[in-house]
Amino acid sequence: CGVFGVTNAENASKIAYLGLFALQHRGQESAGISTIDEEKLPHSFRNSGLVSDVFKEEELLKLKGKNAIGHVRYSTSGGNLGANIQPITARIGGVPVSLSHNGNIVNSEDLRQNLEKNGAILQGTADTELVLHLMARSTKETFIERLREAFEKLAGAFSLLILTPTHLYAVVDACGYRPLSLGQLPTEKGEKSSWVLSSETCAMDLVGAEFIRDIVPGEILSIDLATGHNESCYFNMSAFQSKNKQKAKCIFEHVYFARPDSLVWNIPAHDARFAMGEELAHISPVEADMVIAIPDSGVPMAMGYANASGIPFKIGLIRNHYVGRTFIEPTQNVRNFRVRLKLNPVRETVRGKRIIVIDDSIVRGTTSRKIIELLREAGAKEVHMRISSPPVKFPCFYGIDTPKRKELLAQHMTPKEMNEFLKSDSLEFLSEDSLLSVMNKFQNKNRYKVTNFFHEEKSESANGGWCTACFSGDYQDITAQKIACPENF
Ligand code: 5GP
Ligand code: SF4
Ligand code: MG
Repeated sequence: CGVFGVTNAENASKIAYLGLFALQHRGQESAGISTIDEEKLPHSFRNSGLVSDVFKEEELLKLKGKNAIGHVRYSTSGGNLGANIQPITARIGGVPVSLSHNGNIVNSEDLRQNLEKNGAILQGTADTELVLHLMARSTKETFIERLREAFEKLAGAFSLLILTPTHLYAVVDACGYRPLSLGQLPTEKGEKSSWVLSSETCAMDLVGAEFIRDIVPGEILSIDLATGHNESCYFNMSAFQSKNKQKAKCIFEHVYFARPDSLVWNIPAHDARFAMGEELAHISPVEADMVIAIPDSGVPMAMGYANASGIPFKIGLIRNHYVGRTFIEPTQNVRNFRVRLKLNPVRETVRGKRIIVIDDSIVRGTTSRKIIELLREAGAKEVHMRISSPPVKFPCFYGIDTPKRKELLAQHMTPKEMNEFLKSDSLEFLSEDSLLSVMNKFQNKNRYKVTNFFHEEKSESANGGWCTACFSGDYQDITAQKIACPENF
């Protein structure tokens, strides 16, 4: 999912719309915006579909006020029921609250059962609603204390925004799985600040905001809508969490999920991918005539591979960007029709050539298998697969939509068996250690703006504070471990 928020801006709903538009890659299922107007009244509009389909000018004009939050959804928990479309809204102690969440709460079943036992009536099936219920049930006096109490009960991933008539809160779970960045819109001298919060910095570029810093793990940043002042407090990791009690930034954001033009945890995603490709070329060289990418996600890595190997980068596959949900199947059985809808080889380029094909990851293996077949049909002489991440062996419980364990190709096969299954001439992956060393070189370089912000780096771990659980099975919390590997318990 993607979340976006803005304070103290004329046409806040339009800015939120643009922000969500830039975050569309993080979720295509539904979109929504909530605002607070000058009379402190809430407005909301949400629906299923793409941002540009959900909102027309008319809806945006009805979303009055200078403060807004929004959400694009990609369902990883709770299915795609209408009640789960965000931002979700509720009243807590008479105060209207709306909330946008990116991530996945791992202990939601336990929490749900507890809440229902105590008489809570839950509308949707998504885990996000639980946060509101926990806040509503807290007996603490101040809103911020209620938030803190609720967050300390949650395990898993949550980067979220909460809009009330007086404040915008930005929160990141204590492991810091998902990115959330703070930015600022330009204001006249002496005017109060206008803040932007976004899952990715590419949305800040679009609305003309400047990136300031990341929200850090365990932080609750509160922005006073009346004054523009902000302050932070911190909460502790859930008692349910904590196997290793360390930071766990999702390394898959850098491998695949984030847009390459975003700074993710202050590391340019494009540069990280380019460096992954270079590393892959050093570790797994092979003689060939060209390097091609499976677009779009494999492109920066393929360019890195070409750069380090000296083998030219070519466009060997073309992607159709307009593949929607509905299309007409041809009456007769056209071979590989469904992949070809999205990707087609450039015949004249690949014919008779030895090709290195770069992709970011292998999940089910279905795309790669078909693409290798298409390339051979188009006359490629050799097809060598190079993958810029380790084999995905375990499901993600933290907000990336990987399939169930049994559908993951690497669960059943060794890389050698995968090579036979995919019918490639060779297949190599970036190892977990290599991937971590690429990422940690960026972290250590620190050549981007370092914010003057106090944060106790208590939990910076040996591996640099990355989650790699979908490769290693090493989850931060016991609940996820039990679901993924029941045989170990
Ligand atoms: P496969 O060849 O394993 O069927 O699919 C791998 C491709 O799916 C890669 O090109 C990768 O960019 C993409 N991919 C990786 N992770 C995800 C994900 O979580 N969801 C979706 N829809 N695609 C993914
Ligand atoms: Fe990211 Fe994988 Fe960890 Fe999920 S399990 S948060 S996809 S690194
Ligand atoms: Mg891809």
